[in-house]
Formats: sequence, C-alpha cells, structure tokens
Amino acid sequence: MAKVVVLGAGISGHTAVSYLSKYLKKDHEVVMVSPNSNYQWVPSNIWVGVGLMTPDQVKFKLAPVYKKMGVNYKQALAVSIHPEGDTEQKQGFVTIKYVSEDKKDTIEKVSYDYLINATGPKLNFEGTEGLGPKYFTESVCTYDHASHAWTKLKSALEKMENGEKQTFLIGTGHPLATCQGAAFEYVLNIAFEIKKRKLLHLAEMIWITNEYELGDFGMGGAYIKRNGYVTPTKIFAESILKEYGIRWIKRAGVQKIEKGVAYFENLEGEHKTVNFDFAMLIPGFAGAGMKAFNKNNEDISAEVFAANGMMKVDADYTPKPYEEWKAEDWPLTYQSVKYDNVYAAGIAFAPPHGMSKPMQSPNGTKIFPTPPRTGMPSGVIGKIVAQNIIHTIKTGKIEHKHKASMASMGAACIVSAGYGISKGQAAVMTVNPIVPDWEKYPKWGRNINDTVGVVGTAGHWMKLFMHYMFIYKAKAKPFWWLIPE
Ligand SMILES: Cc1cc2nc3c(=O)[nH]c(=O)nc-3n(C[C@H](O)[C@H](O)[C@H](O)COP(=O)(O)OP(=O)(O)OC[C@H]3O[C@@H](n4cnc5c(N)ncnc54)[C@H](O)[C@@H]3O)c2cc1C
Repeated sequence: MAKVVVLGAGISGHTAVSYLSKYLKKDHEVVMVSPNSNYQWVPSNIWVGVGLMTPDQVKFKLAPVYKKMGVNYKQALAVSIHPEGDTEQKQGFVTIKYVSEDKKDTIEKVSYDYLINATGPKLNFEGTEGLGPKYFTESVCTYDHASHAWTKLKSALEKMENGEKQTFLIGTGHPLATCQGAAFEYVLNIAFEIKKRKLLHLAEMIWITNEYELGDFGMGGAYIKRNGYVTPTKIFAESILKEYGIRWIKRAGVQKIEKGVAYFENLEGEHKTVNFDFAMLIPGFAGAGMKAFNKNNEDISAEVFAANGMMKVDADYTPKPYEEWKAEDWPLTYQSVKYDNVYAAGIAFAPPHGMSKPMQSPNGTKIFPTPPRTGMPSGVIGKIVAQNIIHTIKTGKIEHKHKASMASMGAACIVSAGYGISKGQAAVMTVNPIVPDWEKYPKWGRNINDTVGVVGTAGHWMKLFMHYMFIYKAKAKPFWWLIPE
C-alpha cells in the first residue's frame, strides 16, 4: 500500500488529488494537507470584487468532497519537508501544523511514499510597503480579499453617485509582479460597472503595470490572429483599454503605498507618484515558505527550493541571457531536482526563467513581469503528476509516461469585461504554446493558427459556463473526469 500526500487544495493540488483518489481507490492512501476549509474557484473572484457574485458562489467546503473521494483531509499548513526522514524514522515526511478549531496548532509528522507540493503562491504583500487589504490597497486574489475590495469599491461608487470624482488605480503592486491578466480583467469590470451606472464623467481609471509594453501579460506578449490579421497583444490590450476609457502607466515598478498615493520607479529611473481613491494592485508572488531538512536535520532548503521559495524541478536553471532562453529549459515532469518521489505542481514549481525580457532601470531596479502559471496549466500539471505517480504505484516502474511542458502546451484565457447575458463582454485569448518557441516558430514565436484573440458576448457566456463547469468538476460530481482541465 502506497501513501501519496498532496500539499495545497488549489487548482493544481485538488486536480491531482481527484485523479489519485479515482485511480488508486481504497488500495492506497491519499492525503490532502491544506489550511483553508474551502475550495475556491479563484478566477471568479473578479466577479466577487465587483459585487456580482458572493463568496459563497465561488467556494465550497472541502471536507464532504474529500470524504466522498476517500481522501484523508488534514486542515493544516505544511511547515517543512523531510524527504530523507530523520534520526527517528527513515521514511520521508512533512511536518504540518493544524489550523482547524479542534486541533489548532497541533504539530504532526505526516509520512509519505510520494509527495506533491501544490502550495501555490504566497501573496507577498510585505514585499511592497503599505500594499494590501491590511493597509491601503485592495486585492482580488482570494474571495475574502475580493469581498473586501467590493465593500471599498461600493463606497467609491456611492461617492460618485453623490457627484464626487474618484480615481481608480489597478495593476501590479511590485516591480516583479505577475498575474497581469487578473488585474486587467478587474479594471475592465470596474469600467463596465461605472459605465452601467452612467458615472464615467466622474471617474479617472488608471492601469499601472510593470510590463514594458501593454499586453505582455508575463508571457513576453504574443502575436495573435484577430479578424484575419496578425496583431501584437500590445495593440489588442491598448485598444481595449482605450475603448473602456482607461489610461495607462507602463514600465512602472510600484515600491511603496501610502494612503491615497502609490510611489513607483519607471524604467527611465524616475521616481514618480500617482494618487488614487481606490486601488487594487497585485502583490509579488513567492513560494509558500516551507523549509527542507535532510536526515541529520540540516537545512537543505537552498537545494530543494529556488531563492523565491518555489520548488526546483526538472528544468534547466543555468543562468543565461534572454537571447539564449530555450523552450526545452522548461520542465516536463515536475519531479524535484533532488528527490525522485517529490513533485511540485502549479505555481509551486520554480520556473527556469521568465518569458518576458528582463528589464532594469539605471538605478538597478528590475522592472518586468515574472512568468504566470494560469489555471489551465496548473490543472494539467496537477493531472500529469498524479498520472505518473499512479503509473509508478501500479506497475512498480519509475517512468514518466505523462509530460506537460508549458513550452508545448496551449492555454486559453478569458478576460471578462462586463457581466450580463446580453451585455456581458469578454476578451478571449488562446496561445499555443504558452512559452514562446522561437526555434520552432521563427516568425511569430507561437503557432499563429492557435494563437487568437476575440472580444464579444460569447466569451462572457463561456467564462460563466466555465465557472459552473469547473465548480461541478471540483465537487467530483458524476463524470467529473470528462471535463478537461
Ligand atoms: C483574481 C484572479 C483571477 C484569475 N483568473 C484566471 C483565469 O481567468 N484563468 C486562468 O487560467 N487563471 C486565472 N488565475 C490564475 C489561477 O487562479 C492560478 O493559476 C491557479 O489558482 C494556480 O493554481 P495552484 O494550485 O498552483 O495555486 P492555488 O490555486 O493558489 O492553490 C494553492 C493552495 O495551496 C494552499 N497552501 C498554501 N500554503 C500552504 C501550505 N504551507 N501548506 C498546505 N497548503 C498550502 C492554499 O491555501 C491553496 O489552497 C487567476 C488568478 C487570480 C488571483
């Protein structure tokens, strides 16, 4: 009997655990360690942030679902991993700290035969002074944050209804932040809500971003097929913002926030400020902050994790200039560099390098997006990691039959830009592959036939349909496995 432990019940870890429990059945043990008692469909937090959905519509309790799946669920935080065991036990284990009411702060050693680290991003608000819902800006990264953002946004809208002007600042809150797509979606939704209330004349809306050009989205931008023409995402993004009446500040590394004012440095090295009444700025992302120890209890975190706390896997981490980045630098199996029975899935794996060209101001401040790992690749990676472990457990053969490089995988991104069956809008973008491959596709970096962008109401229906479909799948309802990641 084998024991597989998964850390983190987000898109990647929950996908992994669903397949593990389905295919390993009761012959083996599957354990999930995750601190939040709820699963949340993160992409719909955008709609919570504009008051169109409640947190209850984007989340559900994990315990009953894991009971149905036969997964041993521990509501706890993983604190450290010990892949070689310690002086008391030979088997690898994870140290966890319970957060559930009944066992709060209890420490436990959870041993494993296979470990999947799917702990996602730590939202590093501390990386920017004054950033985040505890201080002066909002976030939509969790349903709690999004709900808080809606309370503040509602109050700004009420002020406008009373004739007061308001400035909205949306974008990235750290010089190296990623997840531009989510912030972009939020600013379009805010603009839609303001327009719906006929308050545009009282609103100044500003998109602030660390991208060199708009539409970079942390993937170095893309050339997309649109209405029969090939268009750079720069034009695509700029035209959408213009249409919604949003001005932009690009090449900006936000460094500090005070009440109503954001301080940033740009790539020219100038230090500037921008005022706001309402701001939603995405923080920098880091790894979950777990430590790793060897059997002598010596700290080996630097061997297991990259400097940002994300786990090093089968990627090529050799530092090299942008011009030498290659598609094959990206991982295929997500197996730890150091331990064969440890994997990292979703945002938890350390990318080999960015996709956007690294840029630096004359003062030495690095200002550019780090690479995103959106929902689709996170789900696919969770699935193939689970499939490889299932294969090894069932056959006894250590081979990786399933591979999923972000440099050969496509992804679809639907940026909603307003809500409603007849008035809802969305920008739909597909890229294939996610990581550009200039050797295989020398002209456009990607397969131009699969890299497209369209704006329209159908995209909104698709986004809404995906909300219900992915929550259905995550609840492990009948035939959930037929729904793709
Ligand atoms: C507002 C917003 C909108 C988005 N919209 C889209 C979209 O439209 N399309 C798209 O493709 N992507 C979208 N994304 C990105 C998508 O949500 C992420 O790619 C995805 O959630 C990453 O999955 P993950 O499993 O790696 O991380 P997460 O989903 O963040 O899951 C990580 C899990 O690990 C848990 N955890 C953290 N620390 C520990 C620990 N120490 N021990 C145990 N568990 C731990 C967390 O509680 C969480 O449950 C959006 C993101 C945001 C923030």
